[in-house]
Amino acid sequence: MSEVLFVGGDRPGADATAGANEENGPARAAMLAERLCRLDLFQRLMTIRAKISGRIAFTTSFGLEDQAIAHAIFSQALPIEVMTLDTGRLFPETHDVWAATERRYGIRVAALFPKRASVESLLARQGGNGMRASIAARLECCAVRKVEPLARALDGCAAWITGMRAEQSAERAVLAPVSFDERRRLIKVNPLFDWTRKQTYAFVRANEIPYNELHDRGFLSIGCAPCTRAVAPGEPERAGRWWWEQSQKKECGLHTSMA
Ligand code: SF4
Repeated sequence: MSEVLFVGGDRPGADATAGANEENGPARAAMLAERLCRLDLFQRLMTIRAKISGRIAFTTSFGLEDQAIAHAIFSQALPIEVMTLDTGRLFPETHDVWAATERRYGIRVAALFPKRASVESLLARQGGNGMRASIAARLECCAVRKVEPLARALDGCAAWITGMRAEQSAERAVLAPVSFDERRRLIKVNPLFDWTRKQTYAFVRANEIPYNELHDRGFLSIGCAPCTRAVAPGEPERAGRWWWEQSQKKECGLHTSMA
């Protein structure tokens, strides 16, 4: 198995202590935002790796977009840390595509789990599937299972790559290709910001990239099993996430700003 997952500071050209600093600040984000628009996906990721010093993390949920990005990273053997947040509530099909991805590229994807004591405490308060009781309860579950592990994943990173696309929702329509996340003090990169779903699907098919079979069953956006359903033709892509909520804003707290 070839190893292209780099953890810590033992990667070529990487400085483990480098996170947000002058060099990787808002000016660099603005420069990269302008440059990325003219590049294809492979070039975008290569450029991000070349122009940002320090650790770069890509967090994948193994959805269609994340699989396209993972392909561009793994096939070019880019020294970018690829990790996933295993909330403990993922679909079996997500675990299947996780394993298929590791086989296809001969790598391991690092897994971050929520803290056991926090989950036990959450379940004691909410009970089973207590996230459906209210928006507050759902956000509390996401905070324990996603947001806190993500903070650990990004700790010390100079940049964070995500699979968001502007087309996915009204909330994401203003998505920037690259921005500076003031709260997390890092550069946030959305290399598929201008891709359509059709384009993403075609890329995955053309490159024979493993993908979650739930996509073929109407699950356009795939998160945790108790919080995701298939959508009907014509429904917004993220309508199946937290479907019992009326809010149009279907976010879980990982992405606090889009631009
Ligand atoms: S998506 Fe659902 S199960 Fe997953 S962390 Fe959020 S509320 Fe909890």
